Amino acid sequence: MKVKLRNPDREVELAGGRKVHVILGELGIDPDTVLVIRERELLTREDRCAEADRIEIRPVISGGSGSSHTSNRMKCRRCKAPAVLEVRRHNAAFCRDCFLRHVREQVKRAIEAYDMLHAQDRILVAVSGGKDSLALWDLLLDLGYRADGLYLGLGIGDYSSRSAELVRSFAAERNARLIEIALTEEYGFDIPTAGRKGSRSTCAVCGLSKRYVFNKTAREHGYDVVATGHNLDDEAATLLGNTLRWQTDYIARQFPALPAEEGLARKVKPLYRLSELETAAYAFLRGIDYVVEECPLVAGNTQLRYKEAMNRLEATSPGTKAQFFLSYLDRAAPLFATQDDADLRPCERCDQPTTGRFCAFCRAQAQILGERLGELPGDRELVGQLSDEVMPAELYGAASQ
Ligand code: SF4
Ligand code: ZN
Repeated sequence: MKVKLRNPDREVELAGGRKVHVILGELGIDPDTVLVIRERELLTREDRCAEADRIEIRPVISGGSGSSHTSNRMKCRRCKAPAVLEVRRHNAAFCRDCFLRHVREQVKRAIEAYDMLHAQDRILVAVSGGKDSLALWDLLLDLGYRADGLYLGLGIGDYSSRSAELVRSFAAERNARLIEIALTEEYGFDIPTAGRKGSRSTCAVCGLSKRYVFNKTAREHGYDVVATGHNLDDEAATLLGNTLRWQTDYIARQFPALPAEEGLARKVKPLYRLSELETAAYAFLRGIDYVVEECPLVAGNTQLRYKEAMNRLEATSPGTKAQFFLSYLDRAAPLFATQDDADLRPCERCDQPTTGRFCAFCRAQAQILGERLGELPGDRELVGQLSDEVMPAELYGAASQ
């Protein structure tokens, strides 16, 4: 039988007549990190592949190690029909309809637990073309919310062109409103250039640009709230990274719902109770065409290393990720709340909130474009504020030396 593997795309020939978990074991792939697809169908670990089959093994997370399990042919926990997906941390498998219901219930539960959204809210969904953000937009529309999409063009070659196409066709099919902003047109740089010229890593400046544009657009267009597709894996990996460095101010702000503040829109993460495997399966089962390719600049993304570490723990102890993040929310988050005491004021260049004179985005943009920020000679306060940002001296003139 033929097996299509992704990232990079390739095809291998393997012996058929075996169960999915045996095939994944031979390939050294953790079943919790992939969707196994035959035609338009999902297969569970206990499904058998025939010699003539063509299957696709589509990663939902980067990394992961081998693992194999045996159990009886899986049945849906709710209705006992043949299962299409196993959710090991719930020790449950679901058929298509019951799985979609499970996902909607988890999202409704998340929204209620943190009072994230109200019926009349105008919601701006940050969409990238990936499975999580499109699944989120689909879920919110399906639940009857007034949700528009915002796509930020990062200028990452074919990857960005393909993502944009998928987002546009998703919006067109549902007659949903999509706002598009291109970083190059609006701000004069793209992400590959920012990675080469700036002092931050590519992913750091990409993340900063996204947060900046989402907030600015929400406020300028009168949206009540920005919704992002962060899932349980994202949140657990971020929490692990923040904890390893004890970044208590970041830990304090890592919450599924952040209220609006002076200059900052309300932000919510309605998928925080769902794993990456669940959002990928949801997108697939709903027929959502999302970008499967990885961003070509992902190599330097530190969050991926934390995801891989969490996946290794999860493979031997299912439920670790959920316990780590959800228990943080219940038990530890209140202990960090006082760490979040930033005093915000408007950036002197763009009016967006910041703790210094110029916001981090304006500083990064100036550095990338080789511009000067404001009137600087002899401005000691500014130089002091910027020193932790590793800004090159030429931006500030001789006075900063
Ligand atoms: Fe941006 Fe890095 Fe994600 Fe690519 S991998 S989209 S550069 S954050
Ligand atoms: Zn600014």
